Amino acid sequence: MTHVFGRSGASLPKAVRGEGCYIHDARGRAYLDGSGGAAVSCLGHSDPDVRAAIHAQLDQLAFAHTGFFTSDPAEDLADLLAANAPEGIERVYLLSGGSEAVEAAIKLARQYFLEIGQPGRHRVIARRQSYHGNTLGALAAGGNAWRREKYAPLLVETSHIAPCYEYRFREDGETAEAYGQRAANELQAEIDRLGADSVMAFIAEPVVGATAGAVPAVDGYFRRIREICDANGILLILDEVMCGMGRTGTLFASEHDGVAPDIVTIAKGLGAGYMPIGAMLCTGTVYDAIAQGSGAFQHGHTYHGHPLAAAAGRAVLTAILGRDLLPQVRARGEMLQQALTSRLGQHPHVGDIRGRGLFRGVELVEDRATKATFDPARKINARVKSAAMENGLICYPAGGTVDGKHGDHVLLAPPYIISEDQIDELVDKLARAIDTAIAA
Ligand code: PMP
Repeated sequence: MTHVFGRSGASLPKAVRGEGCYIHDARGRAYLDGSGGAAVSCLGHSDPDVRAAIHAQLDQLAFAHTGFFTSDPAEDLADLLAANAPEGIERVYLLSGGSEAVEAAIKLARQYFLEIGQPGRHRVIARRQSYHGNTLGALAAGGNAWRREKYAPLLVETSHIAPCYEYRFREDGETAEAYGQRAANELQAEIDRLGADSVMAFIAEPVVGATAGAVPAVDGYFRRIREICDANGILLILDEVMCGMGRTGTLFASEHDGVAPDIVTIAKGLGAGYMPIGAMLCTGTVYDAIAQGSGAFQHGHTYHGHPLAAAAGRAVLTAILGRDLLPQVRARGEMLQQALTSRLGQHPHVGDIRGRGLFRGVELVEDRATKATFDPARKINARVKSAAMENGLICYPAGGTVDGKHGDHVLLAPPYIISEDQIDELVDKLARAIDTAIAA
């Protein structure tokens, strides 16, 4: 028996070594990391620069509490992030992961409105097809029905509008642009319903990850969302925990949409799996309201700004920018999309292949014509995941919901260093896993 309490039960292979795009288990089997775990391992598993940076920091200083000290790695990482962040973003609050970053974002929004004398604003509006983390505040914001269900009585009430999900919700004859405006206008309708002076923020993932498998919004959607937030005095929080740090081909995913958030959260690709780290970034306007008001953001965690984690983050970000990996993500991302389309584009149970950069999703359906989803009892998602593992491939089962109902999606987010041959290997192993899962 294992004493580990969590998903890593005794039935799972034991990971013992990582090298490049592969994880090796105790039995000597190699697994191509087609999803970077959960869009985490963006530099692969044995990056020499990141390892050296962690060793060097460990030899100097592992930890100094932020109540007493700042540190070079934390200062440098914040400088580097702010210098490369969307317009207006100036301040960086370092945390230990994605849920922590989202919690901090929600609390910061609330404190901002208190500082500027609008205490009535406390509501968050989010989207049904979304995941923002598993802690109670972040879970309340998320729209993933099955993750929320058991904890519903503990969650603060949050409004959820429809996601921007072209494959499912664009109507016949409707242009993508018109659809994007219609989907975004749901935000205005919800604000009107709640009363603008009670709403503090809208939170969304620029490219939806864990609940739907890499769903980007149509062009124009986020520009309209930004207009609505501005017109109603509401903060826009973009959750880039999964899609940020270069995953979609730009350092921040929102660059593609041409909008700048008031608050943005990042995590997974920032530590690239080498250290647990996340961050919440905000504009000078939000920061100043607090700095010039009560003086301090009333928040904090023991490991906030951890020097060793920050050293890893600094090395990862330096690698992404310094090695010019973003154009590579865009080029390899197109290759992956093409390889998926040529192998699976006509597959009777593949409804959609989509995404941006090296963040791609495959949506599996019972019937391509009607887009009907599989019976959840067939557990297609879980079966694809285990068949892929049997084939030596890690792919993430983004088994979220399709507007409240079960959906089967595969999320792909390989390391930015994936080669052309490895893209072919990924697609071949995935295609075989899908067939095995559906035949079972
Ligand atoms: N936000 C998004 C968009 C995520 O994808 C995740 C993790 N899948 C989280 C927040 C939570 O991050 P963590 O698991 O690091 O707490």
